[in-house]
Amino acid sequence: MKTKLIQIDGSAGEGGGQILRTSLALSLVTGKPFRIERIRAGRQKPGLMRQHLTAVNAAVEIGGAAVDGAEIGSQELIFHPGPVKPGAYRFAVGTAGSATLVLQTVLPALLVADEPSVLNLEGGTHNPLAPPFDFLERAFLPVVGRMGAQVEADLLRPGFFPAGGGQMQVRITPCSKLQPVEILERGGLVSRSAQVIIAGLPDSIAERQRESLKRSLGWPAESITIERESDQVGPGNVVLAELSGATHTEIFSAFGQRGVRSEQVVDHLVKSVRDYLTHGAPVGEYLADQMLIPMALAGGGSFRTGKLSRHSITNMDVIRRFLDTEFEVTLDSPLTEQLTVR
Ligand code: AMP
Repeated sequence: MKTKLIQIDGSAGEGGGQILRTSLALSLVTGKPFRIERIRAGRQKPGLMRQHLTAVNAAVEIGGAAVDGAEIGSQELIFHPGPVKPGAYRFAVGTAGSATLVLQTVLPALLVADEPSVLNLEGGTHNPLAPPFDFLERAFLPVVGRMGAQVEADLLRPGFFPAGGGQMQVRITPCSKLQPVEILERGGLVSRSAQVIIAGLPDSIAERQRESLKRSLGWPAESITIERESDQVGPGNVVLAELSGATHTEIFSAFGQRGVRSEQVVDHLVKSVRDYLTHGAPVGEYLADQMLIPMALAGGGSFRTGKLSRHSITNMDVIRRFLDTEFEVTLDSPLTEQLTVR
């Protein structure tokens, strides 16, 4: 008997690439095939871009899947997964498209596979609108580690938009079942620091940003550092803030862009940090979003965060199509929500 395809509407809710990535990720984990239509209909350039196509091809390779519609610009895809094959893989986006989002697609299946995996990923490692490598390494993966699967990531070469060319290696030691985590209180800040990453651009940009960070955040001078990269394909500038609490670490980021003043990039970062400190809940917007799949696979756990983003709400809708997950969201203060997975 043919298994029924799960029908996914890529234009639902937030209408972005996450709908595709979550569908691929959970199709691999559950073995359930799906058809997605109107891929990324909510975006300026709808359909599969190079990064999404790389994610699809990575899922095909890891899951021995049969696929229809895997081409640039495609707005419809049919995906029939086979058994997941952990092992050594190399996936190259070929543009500055985010390599961390390719990882996001295949990681869940490899976290619960029966053998370890080593992934070499190439593309953007520090892209606006995607998790920067630092977030992956220091915010997201440690939480996954607490859930029972150990994942180590090394940045071999940074890749910035628009040149790309970054490289990272990710080593995954899976577990048979992820365990629930609970992150309900921030428990006081243990450390805070900020970093200006600069590559192939005048040093004065980094110096101005450091001054601006010092002024705006009021943190000690020694906690704000400059990291000069020299082994990159194209120029880049990122400002990061790291806040470690008793339970976990949060990483905030903002990206330098042509035509945007260096200080404006800092202002953007400082606003994210202030919003986080103001709402008082431990889990930030992006970590909340990215914890949804591992928590759904764990079948339990809870966290407190600021108001869940539309992105997260869309993500939960897609997760429910593949798994019997119940997401209970309660407003626990005017600015914060608690999410519990059952
Ligand atoms: P989409 O816009 O649907 O392609 O999804 C973007 C993904 O990148 C989501 O998983 C977000 O949680 C993640 N993301 C976007 N911006 C950041 C950021 N500044 N830090 C960490 N993760 C991010």
